Amino acid sequence: MIVVMKAGASSAEIGDVIGEVERLGYKPHPIYGVERTVIACIGDERGKTVLQALEAAPGVEAVVPILKPFKLASREVHGARSRVRIRDGVDVGGERLVVMAGPCSVESEKQILDTAVAVKEAGASLLRGGAYKPRTSPYSFQGMEVEGLKLLARARAETGLPIVTEVVDPHDAEIVAEYADVLQIGARNAQNFALLRRVGRTRKPVLLKRGMSTTLQEFLMAAEYILSEGNHDVILCERGIRTFETATRNTLDLSAIPVLREWTHLPIIVDPSHGTGHWQYVTPMAWASVAAGADGLMIEVHPDPTHALSDGGQSLKPKRFQELMEGVRRFAAAAGRQA
Ligand code: PEP
Ligand code: MN
Repeated sequence: MIVVMKAGASSAEIGDVIGEVERLGYKPHPIYGVERTVIACIGDERGKTVLQALEAAPGVEAVVPILKPFKLASREVHGARSRVRIRDGVDVGGERLVVMAGPCSVESEKQILDTAVAVKEAGASLLRGGAYKPRTSPYSFQGMEVEGLKLLARARAETGLPIVTEVVDPHDAEIVAEYADVLQIGARNAQNFALLRRVGRTRKPVLLKRGMSTTLQEFLMAAEYILSEGNHDVILCERGIRTFETATRNTLDLSAIPVLREWTHLPIIVDPSHGTGHWQYVTPMAWASVAAGADGLMIEVHPDPTHALSDGGQSLKPKRFQELMEGVRRFAAAAGRQA
């Protein structure tokens, strides 16, 4: 249920309603808008009619059910689009598109520093790089772990770019959150509910990737796990789903963008690197993502893709990333955005 407060409701009235929601056994999530405050009441759906009585409380305009199974993620609760602040001047979900770029994995100091400098020069706003890697094979390179986090922090110190890096295991959430500006949850962990809850208890923005076989409703239910722990800074990332097609690594589902924009207030970015799996398809799909309304992009860039320890075949060389960014600026302008 959502309790919609009147436009001029006082903070005492809002506080009383929050207290009453708790007393009735529901978890109140107040959302303070410019115009008015709404209080989402999360809890057992079956007994929620008791909340209807709040309609009589001072300052309350209406008590309405949330129809979608995802509550805090839904536009019913939060009509305006959310912006996720990464740092001053870098917001995901605003007019300006946010591009995150860097290697699949952090491999060495030189590799990450050279990439950071190159992607910054081309116009990226965040540096990506995996220190903990979820690999299909236990025999593949698993990432540099804490050493990789330290190298990312060094690259941030050199370039000023905030860093986004993956957390694979709930036990590593604390150490990754110590170094990262944004915590990435990978496709393979999209329904790892313990991990989702764990990052929901941090105060770092979370980039949540769509699982390779999750529906958009399941995707938003995964986001709900993070939101319901009190972390409201969730960025969704479409990265392709598994279909019968084998020409591409995944099938990049760009129709997810308009659907998600209708269903949720959360910002949505697209990763055409994992979405296609081949460097030559990344740029056109990046441009198509911008045209379809994405709030940003995640792109794998490597100074020497042939020798990359992971995902070299889908990584762009810095020069090609620069060309991608030039086109992104033109497509963004056509879509009424900036890049
Ligand atoms: C990655 O970003 O390198 C990654 C492993 O992505 P995904 O979880 O989308 O496969
Ligand atoms: Mn990768």
